[in-house]
Amino acid sequence: MKLPNALIAALALTFASAMPAAAKDADARLVLVTLDGLSWQELFRGADPGRAADKALVEDLPAIRRDFVDVPDRALALTPFLHNVVAKQGVLLGDRDHGSCAAVTNDQWFSYPGYNEILTGRVDPAIDSNEHGPNKNVTVLEWLNGRPGFQGKVRAVTSWNVFSDILSVGRSKLPVNAGWAAPAPRTAMEKTLGRLQDQTPRRWAGVRFDVFTHGYALESLKHDKPRVLYVSYGETDDFAHDGRYDQTLIAARRTDGFLAELWSTLQADPAYAGKTTMIITTDHGRANDTKPDGWKSHGKPQWADSNQSWIAAIGPGIKAGAKVTGGCAGANQVAATGLQALGLDWKDFDPQAGAPLPIFRAGN
Ligand SMILES: [Zn+2]
Repeated sequence: MKLPNALIAALALTFASAMPAAAKDADARLVLVTLDGLSWQELFRGADPGRAADKALVEDLPAIRRDFVDVPDRALALTPFLHNVVAKQGVLLGDRDHGSCAAVTNDQWFSYPGYNEILTGRVDPAIDSNEHGPNKNVTVLEWLNGRPGFQGKVRAVTSWNVFSDILSVGRSKLPVNAGWAAPAPRTAMEKTLGRLQDQTPRRWAGVRFDVFTHGYALESLKHDKPRVLYVSYGETDDFAHDGRYDQTLIAARRTDGFLAELWSTLQADPAYAGKTTMIITTDHGRANDTKPDGWKSHGKPQWADSNQSWIAAIGPGIKAGAKVTGGCAGANQVAATGLQALGLDWKDFDPQAGAPLPIFRAGN
């Protein structure tokens, strides 16, 4: 079909005026995702061949070898979406084998201090236990939820029940769907998810299987259309603590698939397509390279180097392949990076927070 020249000109004008606004800020959206304790070593090197061949750590040795070891590229086999899509169209920081570096800046190296740092942009030395109780600090989610344009448009869906404390729901009143507690269903899908969740075996008392977190997150995107969604997956940490290397690998690949599904869902929805940034990171590393069983654990001081992490981002304002030079990218920079992606001034949130990562295109 040939379009009349006048129509082409009109269309060009429409797009020329619509594109910058859509890409910039008026309705910019953010999806923040964390994968608990997925090590940068597994992310960038893929499965460790020695551990993958250890029958104390792996139930089905041939299957694990076939899927994760005897493959053309082990990293790609483990987390294809992060490498094929995010690293190419956005950034994937923290490959220390190739001169990239990311880390948490707190000196605890476990979950509550890590999530507090990610979500508030700074370290609170008073947080030295996962049983810290309700967070006195205001997270970027709580702050956004009180701002014009964001009120009632912030959601969190998490596998770990402690997020009720980390996000201080008693004070923040944020809608947080955390752990095995099924929320009151609002849709047919939520009803099904709640029923299946209640009928599923529970391996960990405080951490539900990620499939439910993922299902609720997708349903929230459809039903709530939040401007800011936080999704926190947990299995990559808990299977490692259990000493199940096979399940840790399978969880990493499964969660990478969740990321791919989140991203494709966003791109298929006009409410999100072309104006949503997805930031993905982890709350701590693991002591993979420093102790024989270090891959199972983390925490200072006994699990050296478990402050090492990784950070990824993809979205309309993110510069593909941007590098961070002159030091490590810090977990304390994630909150400000998210705010910049939303077109907001991070200093209005907290001038003491870590600054945004220098991963934006000019003008963003
Ligand atoms: Zn852990």
